[in-house]
Amino acid sequence: MNRESSGKRRGIRIALHWQILIGIALGAVFGIFLPHWTGYIEWIGDLFLNALNMIVIPLIASSIFIGVAGMAGGNLGRVLGKTLGYYLCTTVTAIVIGLVLVSTIKPGVGKDVVLQGDAGGIATQEINMVDQLTGIVPSNVFAAMADGNILPIIFFMIVLGIFSTKLEKRHYTILLDFFTAVYELIMKVTMFIIRLTPIGIFSVMACMIGAQAGHPESLVDIVKGLGLFVLTVWAGCLIHGGLVLPATVWGLARVNPYRHMRKVSTPLLTAFTTCSSSATLPLSIRYTQEQCGVSERLAGLTLSLGSTVNMNGTALFECVSAIFIAQLYGIHLTVGQEITIVLTSLLAAVGSAGIPMAGIVMMAIVFNAVGLPLEGVGIILAVQQICEMPRTCLNVYGDLCGAVIVARSEGEKLTI
Ligand code: ASP
Repeated sequence: MNRESSGKRRGIRIALHWQILIGIALGAVFGIFLPHWTGYIEWIGDLFLNALNMIVIPLIASSIFIGVAGMAGGNLGRVLGKTLGYYLCTTVTAIVIGLVLVSTIKPGVGKDVVLQGDAGGIATQEINMVDQLTGIVPSNVFAAMADGNILPIIFFMIVLGIFSTKLEKRHYTILLDFFTAVYELIMKVTMFIIRLTPIGIFSVMACMIGAQAGHPESLVDIVKGLGLFVLTVWAGCLIHGGLVLPATVWGLARVNPYRHMRKVSTPLLTAFTTCSSSATLPLSIRYTQEQCGVSERLAGLTLSLGSTVNMNGTALFECVSAIFIAQLYGIHLTVGQEITIVLTSLLAAVGSAGIPMAGIVMMAIVFNAVGLPLEGVGIILAVQQICEMPRTCLNVYGDLCGAVIVARSEGEKLTI
């Protein structure tokens, strides 16, 4: 009964999955052998990413409204509590895994790495935690939308959703119907964009690899100095995403985690290549609803929240980076400072937008908190891309696991 509803649909799904993998492989080959030609195909990837980003804000706004308005007064508090509790526990676990790995592998001890990236504006950017927190309440919600600032939009839609239940029944119904219609409409557009994923991903991958392949000498330097650091980040992401989260899905949702992973492989591959949780959100919601059987309300609410609040990979990366830089500069960290790194990594991950490089920008919070030199961000920049792919994939996987766990705990029948 929990099979795909028809053979036809199943065929299309498998084909798309393979098409994306082929797109990734061809893109890598193109980037390696024709790095100077990537300029001709860059527009395809840009169009694809623009198309995905185009639908993110109406999607988040409508899905949060439907979820909150539909549950307010009922099980909303419970669902939000469970969702945020799951996000908090898994993010802290990811940070601790990073901390243990970086302290054991010691990728920065005894290394002499020169500053390779240009930290430029990033390292000197002052990120004020108080501003970050007060910014969650938007003074101008349309400005937040125009800037793609997701947390204030989420806050605003939660408030609207809660207060919509206090309206006259007639008005409440009109609003709920309106946002449901918007949501369904965006999902139709999503379906169309999904079909273009292999081509879009081919271009994104080719340009990404092409940009690296153009400078082979710096690649060799990076491997020598920063190889172990990259390995630590990848190992952390693999342990958390390949063992800890699957075990959590199995333990809490009672479904085969690797079957779940297969069912959501399209959003996972998209996250890996595009390095954007936000751009992947439409696919995450679609696949969680269609392939895993999670209801529209829960999928929309948990995944929309997760795409910006729950970033296991980013949190792990922040912690590993900070300790790595301390090792590199020979700075001894006290236990108190390590705890500060854990806490600020959590805050940095929550505050990171689901867009490429967001984690690097937020790194200043962690470095400032324990007095690490901000130019260390420039060193991390050299390998930012290669670390961003697994961490974004892990960010999205954490959300996808959360959605099925919360749905199961609410008594929904999963089709995994
Ligand atoms: N690119 C990541 C994401 O979209 C955020 C980051 O760590 O930079 O999830």
